[in-house]
Order: sequence, then structure tokens, then C-alpha cells
Amino acid sequence: MARINKIGVLTSGGDAPGMNAAVRAVVRATIFYGWEAYGIYRGYKGMIEGDIRKLESKDVGNIIQRGGTILKSARCPEFRTKEGRAKAYENLLLHGIDALVVIGGDGTFTGAGLFSEEFDIPVVGIPGTIDNDMFGTDFTIGYDTALNTVVQTVDRIKDTASSHDRLFFVEVMGRGAGFLALTGGIATGAEAILIPEAEGQEEKLNKYLNDERAEPKDSHIILVAEGNTVGGAEEIAKRVAKEFPKYDVRVNILGHMQRGGAPSAFDRFLASRMGVAAVEALKDNQRSIMVGFKNHQIVHVPFNKTIAHSPELNKTLLDINDILNL
Ligand code: ADP
Repeated sequence: MARINKIGVLTSGGDAPGMNAAVRAVVRATIFYGWEAYGIYRGYKGMIEGDIRKLESKDVGNIIQRGGTILKSARCPEFRTKEGRAKAYENLLLHGIDALVVIGGDGTFTGAGLFSEEFDIPVVGIPGTIDNDMFGTDFTIGYDTALNTVVQTVDRIKDTASSHDRLFFVEVMGRGAGFLALTGGIATGAEAILIPEAEGQEEKLNKYLNDERAEPKDSHIILVAEGNTVGGAEEIAKRVAKEFPKYDVRVNILGHMQRGGAPSAFDRFLASRMGVAAVEALKDNQRSIMVGFKNHQIVHVPFNKTIAHSPELNKTLLDINDILNL
């Protein structure tokens, strides 16, 4: 196995709070182990375009508390082609970069796996996405912060909802996964939760709206995961307003505000641990693995495993919400 001298780090796909803390940890651990760190800007796009700069320890100072990513992120269709990846490899050669840490989601790891195989370069991944939809880790970087943002926002919506006896549909991010909606719903005492992983939730919602115990409540909050149905919360709200005219229905789509803001203590901690673990994995000659966090321990999960599987969402939590909504 070739000796590593220079490690490149990039953030790719959707940004998530805590990515900066991960970049800081990767850069500092790299320098700690006697190597050089390089920042690759705008994900795979910057790798193809040669937007690469050496990073010193001070370059990642004062970023642990900042949302977004100082390395910036981008989608890069060209990296899906062999020619694109070859261009990217030329740029790594130019800088003498011989290993990579990529921070992103499934797509980022798919590209990384191909790249590692084609050019025989070790790559380790760190899961960064607010959706928490990665197999092999209990938590992804950004999820806890986004969850706290959802909770704080729903609390505010609840204040206004209860002042006007309104029923609010609140749509949260999560195209294919309902972690934010489910956990956020329980944490805010939502009356119903609609997530793509569970069937029959709309029937349950109808039953709730027909239930005489629902009417005396001075507000109703329904958390809807973005990917629950085509059209999301807007479509469901339209239907409910029509079928249940006694309710004053409103919709609030939280959108990109869920991605922003200072990372929570947990996300900073998680990102710091994962960043160091990723560099240590490279030091131990690991490649094509994601560092995950399972049962409060760092674990290594092969890219092909984390890409091939979806994380298991604990559906019994929906039952808990039913109990709590008597
Ligand atoms: P995420 O990493 O958050 O899932 P994307 O799915 O947008 O985000 O992927 C990020 C980037 O990874 C893409 O813009 C592309 O450059 C690269 N990528 C995604 N899928 C592939 C693939 N099948 N082959 C090569 N590169 C890919």
C-alpha cells in the first residue's frame, strides 16, 4: 500500500450544519499525524476544476460554531462520467494528494467508491446530511441541529396556532426519510405525523379529525415529511380543508431554514469525532468506508453497504405518539 503524504478534504451534496466542525477535525488530525491537508472547494466540481488549496491549522480556526461549509458544496454531474473523474484525478496528481476524506451523503459516497477503485486512491467518507438517512450510523452530521430548528419553529407555530384555534400542517425536510418529522413530531407533541415509511397515517389522521376529543383542543399540529406524498403538506392540507371544513387549516413549509444555523453541541461533538476517526482510518490503511456512530461508538461501514441499504426507522415511535395524543 502506498504511503500517504497529503490528504484532500471536500464537502459535497446537500450542506449540513456541523460540516465545518468535521473539516476542522480532518485538517487538524491530518496535521497532527504529520501529513499535509488540502481543501477541495465546491465538492467534486472543484476537484475537476482544480479549485484546491493547502490548509493550515489556523485556516480552520473559529469555524467549529459556523453553519454551512467553508469549503462550499456543489452538485457535479460531470463526476458521474469516467472522463470527469479522470480530470479530477489529474488535479489530485498535480497537488500530490494521495488520499481523500469526503463529507456528504449516498451520492457522494457512490462517486467516491468509483473514484477510489478506478485510480487506486484511498477514500474515507463522513456522513453529513440533515435527513439522517444513512445506513450504518445512528446519526449523521447536521441532523441534531436541524431537529432542534424544527422543534423551535414548531413551538412558535404552536403559539400562534393555539391563539386562533388553527390546524397547522408543518412540512419538514426528508424526501425519502421521516426521521426529522417523526422525532420532531414527538418532541413538539404533534397531533399526527406523516412519514413516507409508514402506511395508513392519513387514515389515522382522518380518524383523529373526526374524533370528538380533537375538537376541544385549541391547536393541532401535523408534522409532514417532505416525501410523504406527492405535493407534500400543501396537497394534504387542501384535502383536509375540503373534507373537514370545521377546521381552520394552514400550511407552513420550513424549507431551507432547516439547513442553516450554528451546529448544536451534539453535531460539533459528532463531527469532531468522525473527522479524527476518518483520518485515523486512512492511517490504518482503510479505504472505501464511511465512519459511522453506532451505540455511541465509532464504526467503519463499507461504502457499498451504506449505499445499498436504507436506515431502519423505528416505526414503534409512531405508536408512542398515538399514546401521547389521547
Ligand atoms: P449526497 O451526497 O448528499 O447524496 P448527491 O446525490 O447530490 O448528494 O451527490 C453529490 C455528488 O456526488 C453529485 O453531484 C455527483 O458529483 C456525485 N455522484 C452522485 N452519484 C454518483 C454516481 N452514481 N457516480 C458518480 N458520482 C456520483
